[in-house]
Amino acid sequence: MKTIAELGDLRGKRVLVRSDLNVPLDGRTITDDGRIRASAPTIKALSEVGARVIVCAHLGRPKGVPEPRYSLAPVAERLGEVLGREVRFAEDTVGESAKAAVEAAGDGDVVLLENLRFNAGETSKDEAERGLFADQLASLADVFVSDGFGVVHRKQASVYDVARRLPHAVGGLVEAEVGVLTRLTQDPQRPYAVVLGGAKVSDKLGVIDNLLQTADRLLIGGGMVFTFLKAQGYEVGTSLLEADQVDAVKGYLDQAKERGVEIVLPVDIVAATEFSADAEREVVPAGAIPADRMGLDIGPESGVLFAEKLSGCQTVFWNGPMGAFEMEPYAAGTSAVAKALVEATEKGALTVVGGGDSAAAVRQLGFKDEQFGHISTGGGASLEYLEGKDLPGLSVLDEKD
Ligand code: ADP
Ligand code: MG
Repeated sequence: MKTIAELGDLRGKRVLVRSDLNVPLDGRTITDDGRIRASAPTIKALSEVGARVIVCAHLGRPKGVPEPRYSLAPVAERLGEVLGREVRFAEDTVGESAKAAVEAAGDGDVVLLENLRFNAGETSKDEAERGLFADQLASLADVFVSDGFGVVHRKQASVYDVARRLPHAVGGLVEAEVGVLTRLTQDPQRPYAVVLGGAKVSDKLGVIDNLLQTADRLLIGGGMVFTFLKAQGYEVGTSLLEADQVDAVKGYLDQAKERGVEIVLPVDIVAATEFSADAEREVVPAGAIPADRMGLDIGPESGVLFAEKLSGCQTVFWNGPMGAFEMEPYAAGTSAVAKALVEATEKGALTVVGGGDSAAAVRQLGFKDEQFGHISTGGGASLEYLEGKDLPGLSVLDEKD
């Protein structure tokens, strides 16, 4: 895999950069600009060496046609502020506006193309359709830099196919992300703990298989914990449950025992009558969730237990909030885990936070990015990396130009 420096002199060259600028929006207001700030250094470095930088990215999940609410226009504005220079915004991705913006760009200028996913070819499963769109993207540039870590696990036109059409290099952000993940997979400093939570249970179960080979301790919270509690024979009321995964989880629990991996589950749960900040709620033992209640956070004793289990660890990977943190009454568990990671970081541990909502959670709860070893911009991508899967957006960079 080539680095940008290995691409040679880029002055005057048109460099297409795939960034991950998929930020959460409230109307036109960006509620967390973490991905923009993380993407800026690569764009800035290219601009400073005199490249004509053409940034492409997606936002949300439009269905292959333009949808104004998913326009990258607000992102162009914020990116300009972060870079401290003008970002020209093209009103289409590969059409007249894009071509004109690229044509007009001088050395060092930065252009942002409109949402890649306004084009059906971007995410198409049909190689030919994807290829056609990749041809159009590639025709705008001389070289390609892959810097969207959040999408490297996707076989998409702007991630995979375009790299096969242009001389290519890995961007600084992807390089840094992969560097950290390598430290988690190859000979991690021990004890090594992994904290898993969040809502996408079946998505995240795959990684457990692999983590049982590498981690010393697995702490489970968030929405996925109820499938674990159920597997232990407890009733979980109206909590999030993936009933079809209960057997798989039983298998993981057995495997963990055999391998001597410690599985830490919450001992108490904040149980509410409904998914609402105003719901009636109480702290109950994890094994005694009332039939008409749903667990929306790990309880205070669990927060203390999880912090204890994390203190003294040399390596910690955390993906997925411990509760429905967006609502203040259910944020304490996530806050307790974040605080434990900060303390571990202060004592010299490598701590990594992965996942869009997890990253948003630590910021919303008032923590600073610098208090953690690394906040990954790609939840899905980092999990698939830890799962040992092939990431098409990375392996394609190993191919010759
Ligand atoms: P990430 O983006 O960090 O990978 P996920 O997308 O898997 O995390 O999950 C984040 C979501 O999980 C949050 O919106 C949070 O409200 C939700 N969540 C966490 N715990 C629970 C719970 N007990 N019940 C319902 N939702 C939960
Ligand atoms: Mg998420």
